[in-house]
Amino acid sequence: MTVKAYGARASDRPLESMDIARRVPGAHDVQIAVAYCGVCHSDIHQVRSEWAGTLYPCVPGHEIVGRVATVGAHVSGFKPGDLVGVGCIVDSCKHCEDCDAGLENYCDQMVGTYNGPTPDAPGHTLGGYSQQIVVHERYVLRIRHPEAQLAAVAPLLCAGITTYSPLRHWKVKPGHKVGVVGIGGLGHMGIKLAHAMGAHVVALTTSESKREAALALGANEVVVSRHAEEMAAHAKSFDFILNTVAAPHDLDPFISLLKRDGTMALVGAPATPHPSPQVFGLIMKRRTLAGSMIGGIPETQEMLDFCAERGIVADIEMIRADEINEAYERMLKGNVKYRFVIDSASLAT
Ligand code: NAP
Ligand code: ZN
Repeated sequence: MTVKAYGARASDRPLESMDIARRVPGAHDVQIAVAYCGVCHSDIHQVRSEWAGTLYPCVPGHEIVGRVATVGAHVSGFKPGDLVGVGCIVDSCKHCEDCDAGLENYCDQMVGTYNGPTPDAPGHTLGGYSQQIVVHERYVLRIRHPEAQLAAVAPLLCAGITTYSPLRHWKVKPGHKVGVVGIGGLGHMGIKLAHAMGAHVVALTTSESKREAALALGANEVVVSRHAEEMAAHAKSFDFILNTVAAPHDLDPFISLLKRDGTMALVGAPATPHPSPQVFGLIMKRRTLAGSMIGGIPETQEMLDFCAERGIVADIEMIRADEINEAYERMLKGNVKYRFVIDSASLAT
């Protein structure tokens, strides 16, 4: 089946309309009519080959929501018409220690929703900036939010789970002081989720203009990280910091905010490394610097249900597919509150 998509033909080319092929659904496949797809900063890194190794054409998009169109003969969990989502993972080995633990995100053979290996044409996966996608049912998520919120649910499939998973792993709870560094797509979800888990949340931003907005998202306090005296007022006080910044930066000022045994988890994935942090900043207070990548499929379902029960969705700005290149430029300037979402209906026109 041929469907309309938006993608790039080379790292230095803008995204453009293109026709792509989708496989005929196999016995365990779910074919989804994509309604909306969120725009993650990883899409920019990947489409421009900033992490190297991007295969072209590259159709990004791993914050996918829509309705089931058809299901394969052996699909038991979904039926046509169901509201569903697909995140960053469309396949994995299904039998390693990580897959058995429901942590498909850490499977060595995890296949990304785009730029991953597949026998399907053109030999690598193509993502959600497209009208349809066909995915093995194991990697399809059920959406229990009201349909009216569907577009704002899309960013939960990456920004939501990438922030939820570390907050859960490091057991964030009431009484904890939690910092969220970088208030973009991931960071704004980090604030909402940490707030919903009962933590005292401090937004750490480089943007003076986000002070009021971060409070509206649920932050208890806001620190403009460029202001040394504001940072100093929070020294040695955080249990956990989630760092979502998409660019290399000095980690030491944030490590110095952790109290004894505190952890900063990096989820931002800049194209070039951060400067190496000072060893003494870590050893003096037995602090931990850690990393985390998206989340497993069961945890993604748990996050979606957690958000549905509490009415949590992303703050979005809807765009047409042909506005994507302009949207990327705005994201690079931090000029989005807080996630662009493509209306897939615009792909048809
Ligand atoms: P985004 O919406 O563009 O937000 C990034 C935020 O970082 C900006 O809003 C800005 O917040 C802050 N920032 C500070 N200095 C910056 C600079 N020089 N350039 C860019 N941003 C700067 O990005 P996102 O979609 O949240 O993604 C953030 C990062 O996480 C990306 O690197 C992405 O690839 C990565 N990611 C990782 C995973 C994972 O599994 N670990 C999953 C998804 C995404 P302030 O204005 O508040 O300072
Ligand atoms: Zn993403």
